[in-house]
Amino acid sequence: MIKGKDVAYAAQCLKSGELVAFPTETVYGLGADAFNARAVAKVFEVKQRPKFDPLIVHISSIDQIEELFLQPIDEKVYRLAEAFWPGPLTIVFNRSAIVPDIVSSGLPTVAVRMPSHPLAVELIRLAGTPLVAPSANRFGKLSPTQASHVEKQLDGPAYLLDGGSTDYGVESTVVLITKKGVKILRPGAVTAEELATHVKVLSHKNEFDELNVPSPGMLKSHYAPRKPLYIIDKPSELNYVESDGIIIASEQDRNLYSVGRVKALSKSGNLQEIAVNLFAVLHQMEDDDEVEDIYIEAIKEEGVGMAVMDRIRKAAYSYQK
Ligand code: AMP
Ligand code: MG
Repeated sequence: MIKGKDVAYAAQCLKSGELVAFPTETVYGLGADAFNARAVAKVFEVKQRPKFDPLIVHISSIDQIEELFLQPIDEKVYRLAEAFWPGPLTIVFNRSAIVPDIVSSGLPTVAVRMPSHPLAVELIRLAGTPLVAPSANRFGKLSPTQASHVEKQLDGPAYLLDGGSTDYGVESTVVLITKKGVKILRPGAVTAEELATHVKVLSHKNEFDELNVPSPGMLKSHYAPRKPLYIIDKPSELNYVESDGIIIASEQDRNLYSVGRVKALSKSGNLQEIAVNLFAVLHQMEDDDEVEDIYIEAIKEEGVGMAVMDRIRKAAYSYQK
């Protein structure tokens, strides 16, 4: 990997389908032409990033949203772009057909942001195409805020554009645009209070129920155990579990399972108790050498059960039917 300050050369690499690591105001990004699915696939390989974790598309001019987002574009997109771009706000809205599936992990939406770092803006402009640019590190490892951090972790990029240290060192805030307002999908450099001065920020679960746009949720790996996790919708449907599998269920449901070992998630079935125990039990199971696959009973989605099921779905995201 060549390191330097040659933006024109870096843009050339991107145009020919290669990867370039470059600075943004948040962290260093691993860039590829967002319209070149093969180049985007290389990003996932080099980062060892799971394909279900969608990428953010970086643009250098507001006009570029016209081709990325599906028409009609919600007026709140423009309002937020005007207030926070260029800067660390990522806007998620319905994607147009031109965006490759691999960029969005097959979701009907795409995440877009306009960075403010002058080198990033110049690079996108010279490349003549929007760029996907997740952090330039191995998936799940420390984010790079200097060029040397990138060199330490990656050898896949053709070029490393050296722009010194980044300003924020924390990722962008990700918001989903809905008819009623915006939903924060990932907290980041732009705060909820700042957003609220421009748009309605949806903060109650019952408001999310009315969403007109499918809400994919955050696909955060730290929510997921290191082992496969499967959701059990109906105990009767689970008719075979390997000897190294474990079933996490409420104590009173124990007898519903005729196969596999059962680890109790709660004694009473009380939702509060389930919520308190969930992560502790998942931690225990992922650290247990005798456990390979984890099965978990679905929880009633009322009261705090809404939040618990939300966490379970995210944790089991890559193993859903
Ligand atoms: P990063 O890992 O910093 O590149 O940020 C990418 C994150 O943006 C993903 O992990 C998602 O949380 C979020 N994201 C990207 N695209 C979408 C999308 N279409 N819908 C919802 N969240 C998205
Ligand atoms: Mg990252």
